[in-house]
Amino acid sequence: MTETARKIADNFHRVMERVEKSANDAGRDPRCVKVIGVTKYVEPALAEMLFHAGCHRLGESRPQILLEKVSALEDLNAEWHFIGHLQRNKVKKVLPHVSLIHSLDSLRLAESVNRLAIEQEMPSDVLLEVNISGDDAKHGFLPQEIQADLNAIEKLSHVRVTGLMGMAGLKSDAKEIRRQFSQLRELRDSLQPTDWQKAPLTELSMGMSGDFEMAIAEGATMVRIGSVLFDGVL
Ligand SMILES: *Cc1c(COP(=O)(O)O)cnc(C)c1O
Repeated sequence: MTETARKIADNFHRVMERVEKSANDAGRDPRCVKVIGVTKYVEPALAEMLFHAGCHRLGESRPQILLEKVSALEDLNAEWHFIGHLQRNKVKKVLPHVSLIHSLDSLRLAESVNRLAIEQEMPSDVLLEVNISGDDAKHGFLPQEIQADLNAIEKLSHVRVTGLMGMAGLKSDAKEIRRQFSQLRELRDSLQPTDWQKAPLTELSMGMSGDFEMAIAEGATMVRIGSVLFDGVL
């Protein structure tokens, strides 16, 4: 094992320990929290080291980079997650390679995903991204509008809404971040799908390198972690 591979493995194991501790502290089963290793900062070779350290779910935020990594690492059998803003004209390329889109942020995008999913005869799992911080720069549904959008998306035959995703505000302090995560959980709990099969709403994707412990305390089932996994190797 190279120095770099060892460093990445150490980082991953340390993150897993922190995930376990925060879940236990919150009285939750640590196995209910999935770590998505965000590889957008690194070359495929480093993403491969992360995979071999035991992180089998990998996340990318740009279609082109996702496709490059998927093709460079096709032997790995990694589970790919798409976490960034997705343009409708990129859906066709991205869809066949990902097991979950975390960042579905409009009804029109949902319709594109549905169309392609029908074409590829492969229903798609998505999370609805919610703008929990109120930052103008952030994509996502507004909390007060999401119930109506959910009802419309549920009518699409090949899209399944498995939960919500949110990102804390860039300028928010710890207390405010925690409040945003707690609001996302409450929003998820308050949503009423007409059909729970089409929208099971079991997942909450929230928390990144700087705030994943708070997110787990507030009920995150998926944390998207990038920079701390590559500490000391970038
Ligand atoms: C980059 C990114 C992450 C990971 O961020 P880190 O702070 O490096 O852990 C998580 N989620 C999304 C949507 C991202 O774009």
